[in-house]
Amino acid sequence: MNKPEKKSSSNKSATESESTFKDLDLTDEMMKALDRAGYEIPSPVQAGVIPPALEGLDVMGQAQTGTGKTAAFTIPILEQLAPRDEISTVQALVLVPTRELAVQVRNEFEKLAYFMDFKTAAIYGGHSIKKQIEELKRGVQVVVGTPGRVLDHIRRKTLDLRETWCVTLDEADRMLDIGFRPDIEKILSSVSRKDRQTLLLSATVPPAIERLAKRYMHEPTILDFSKDAVSGDSIEQFYFSVDKVKKFELLERLINREKPAQAIIFCRTKRGTDKLAKRLKDLFDHVGCIHGDMNQPARDRVMKKFRDERLKILVATDVVGRGIDVTSISHIINFDTPEDCDDYVHRIGRTGRMGKEGVAYTFVSEDDGELLTRIEIRINQLLEQVYMEGMELKREVKQEVKPERLAAVAAMRGRGPKKHRRRL
Ligand code: AMP
Repeated sequence: MNKPEKKSSSNKSATESESTFKDLDLTDEMMKALDRAGYEIPSPVQAGVIPPALEGLDVMGQAQTGTGKTAAFTIPILEQLAPRDEISTVQALVLVPTRELAVQVRNEFEKLAYFMDFKTAAIYGGHSIKKQIEELKRGVQVVVGTPGRVLDHIRRKTLDLRETWCVTLDEADRMLDIGFRPDIEKILSSVSRKDRQTLLLSATVPPAIERLAKRYMHEPTILDFSKDAVSGDSIEQFYFSVDKVKKFELLERLINREKPAQAIIFCRTKRGTDKLAKRLKDLFDHVGCIHGDMNQPARDRVMKKFRDERLKILVATDVVGRGIDVTSISHIINFDTPEDCDDYVHRIGRTGRMGKEGVAYTFVSEDDGELLTRIEIRINQLLEQVYMEGMELKREVKQEVKPERLAAVAAMRGRGPKKHRRRL
């Protein structure tokens, strides 16, 4: 059974700034759902990805969350689904790295399928597999899941992928980071349709992603939306150099000074996250904490409270922090400098979403100089140092690689280093 024929999309360049959803030649049901969602114009990633995806082509898009990338694949998938009486089994499978993201992506499908007769299930570990099996039995067109749990269902034969014509890998780089590669490969090779469409979204494209794309995609259209997001034009980025022992005091003063609408404070370890949240709760109201050791219902509760803005400060580790989609986040505070510079890009991507302004502060201690330099090279931009009285390090943070080196690296890449505009 083939997916329904799509009219080919208009000839207009997808990236033209005046592109509208109307130019994308979408169904009335989709137009009404977009209107209901309050989406007026396509974001650049949507304008870029939707037309080739609607043509049934494989697309590899470099984009991070906050750019509207979820709808960029949700829209073409929904638009190409065959009616339930033509194909009763799962037609599209979306793989995501975390449970939180599975729920978020499922919600986006439900939002945009509001006027359509399609069902989406989110399947992930930590939740009753029995309930998921019952939901799958009732019939769903789209499954959004984490690789481990999806594979579990494939093995139990409770997930039928024989008619699946689209597989999407969302945040592919993170899925590889957390060791999902063997699971992903097994899943991809168990989707049997030869005319499968594969969509891949990734904030970064390391060689492992390229290899995956080469092996499992057919002449993908490659689109890169990462530049703006990485340089974070709507995000002000600063760092404090601070003594390790004074980090908490600096944080307290910073929160009091900035009075963030909503902030995420990133820590390196789960224990550190717990400890910091406890200390902050003594000083501030509406503080929450989320990390991978918490059970799923507890994580869901925290995320719901944060989305509903009943929490103002969320202390988080990278794995769960990634993919959090809350548009009112005004501040990102890296209480611990991220060890992986891609994590930095993802952390700051939690703010400045969909064109809103955001600010990111990174605390850099004695031994973090090299990490800071690596981040600056990664984003091709020098973070601006800011100060809080009495908080400075006795000696400057030693940056292993001097700014001149950064300039050289930037020149090699053919663009000058960008100094961030001053905030005040
Ligand atoms: P994402 O990058 O998919 O995590 O999306 C970030 C946020 O932007 C989500 O809250 C979406 O609901 C919202 N969004 C996505 N596309 C649009 C659009 N075209 N116009 C306005 N908001 C959007």
